[in-house]
Amino acid sequence: MAGKKELMRSIATERMIILFRLSKEAMQKDREIARSYIKLLYKMSSHYKIGVPGDIGRLTCKKCMDVLVPGISCKVVVASSAGYVIYRCNGCGREKHLYYKNRLAAAPKIKDA
Ligand SMILES: [Zn+2]
Repeated sequence: MAGKKELMRSIATERMIILFRLSKEAMQKDREIARSYIKLLYKMSSHYKIGVPGDIGRLTCKKCMDVLVPGISCKVVVASSAGYVIYRCNGCGREKHLYYKNRLAAAPKIKDA
């Protein structure tokens, strides 16, 4: 049987996913409400000492608490030679580098003499 702590954490994870979905929906109408949902989400993450589930960490800006939606709240640039995609937040300008290649494979190789 799962303990009380694990149960609370699983409920918190579910709620975080719901908050993210609500935030994405609210973004079209009111950015401040959308931000408040994300703030609450990160508060829950630290209170219950759990990570932010799934892609939520990648699709939110931790600086200005915005949901990153390409074309609306962020700009997407592909750095193909480096093997990552840059998500630049329109609100604060913070960049997220999302690797689609293995980091070690994407790094410039040092040739042996
Ligand atoms: Zn931002």
